[in-house]
Amino acid sequence: MIITMQYPSNLVSAPIIYQLSRQYNIEFSILRAIVEDGFAQLTLEIAGNAEDLQGGLNYLADKGIYVSDNPNISILEDKCVSCGACTAVCSVRALKLDRNSKLEFDKAACINCKRCISTCPLGAIQTVSLQSK
Ligand code: SF4
Ligand code: SF4
Repeated sequence: MIITMQYPSNLVSAPIIYQLSRQYNIEFSILRAIVEDGFAQLTLEIAGNAEDLQGGLNYLADKGIYVSDNPNISILEDKCVSCGACTAVCSVRALKLDRNSKLEFDKAACINCKRCISTCPLGAIQTVSLQSK
């Protein structure tokens, strides 16, 4: 399961990930971390049993940490003209042009960094409804 956590500034230095592992036996890999101006956004791959995962997500919610599931990026095909601009910023190649120069989006590969959204001149990339836990 891949999630993205957005920390409020007062929790940037708190041992949130450590507690997820210690209290809820959740295994994790950090796929992406952005920390700037007292704000953090972490994209994690997490694993554990269902009860522990739910407990961990509840813990994050209690801490005021916003959590979204992946994928939450959507390409509006009626707007996209396959210019390829967004593919240049996608570090995991979830966005690429196929052999017919048409944009392909691999949802499974997307780590929800959202860097592509601002690159689209036509506003064809957007987030879909996010789930908070
Ligand atoms: S930048 Fe926008 S229009 Fe261009 S390929 Fe990406 S989604 Fe399509
Ligand atoms: S949010 Fe966009 S740039 Fe980031 S991994 Fe997903 S498709 Fe690529």
